[in-house]
Amino acid sequence: MQVTTNSIETKVGPGEWFTGAVYIDLVAEPAGSFRISANSVHFTPGARTAWHTHPHGQTIYVTEGVGRCQHRGGPVEIIRPGDRVFFEPGEEHWHGAAPDRFMTHLAMLEVDDDGTSATWGEHVTDEEYDGNGG
Ligand code: MN
Repeated sequence: MQVTTNSIETKVGPGEWFTGAVYIDLVAEPAGSFRISANSVHFTPGARTAWHTHPHGQTIYVTEGVGRCQHRGGPVEIIRPGDRVFFEPGEEHWHGAAPDRFMTHLAMLEVDDDGTSATWGEHVTDEEYDGNGG
């Protein structure tokens, strides 16, 4: 058993993975045969991930604010607290805040044998974010 007290610093989401200011609090990390990675991700208004995929898929659960998400070729969808989204393994997608609202979600996934949680692609353009492309 290992107790981790509330001592882990909030991390800034790296610019190669995100557009805009994003802050990440670690909830659970893989260790040995435990493959789950979970983070509480805080998006400022207009901030979003780049396009990316997860080897074993991902569930996000919105806890605050208003957000947007999209899978490649689909419509931009509005997500709100209590909404849950599952992205299939290898499904290209992005998620983020609405233009005028913060959004926080819990992000949960299983890493692959190499410990990889995601494969990152292009940033989401303003046109894609507004639903005019992608
Ligand atoms: Mn994702």
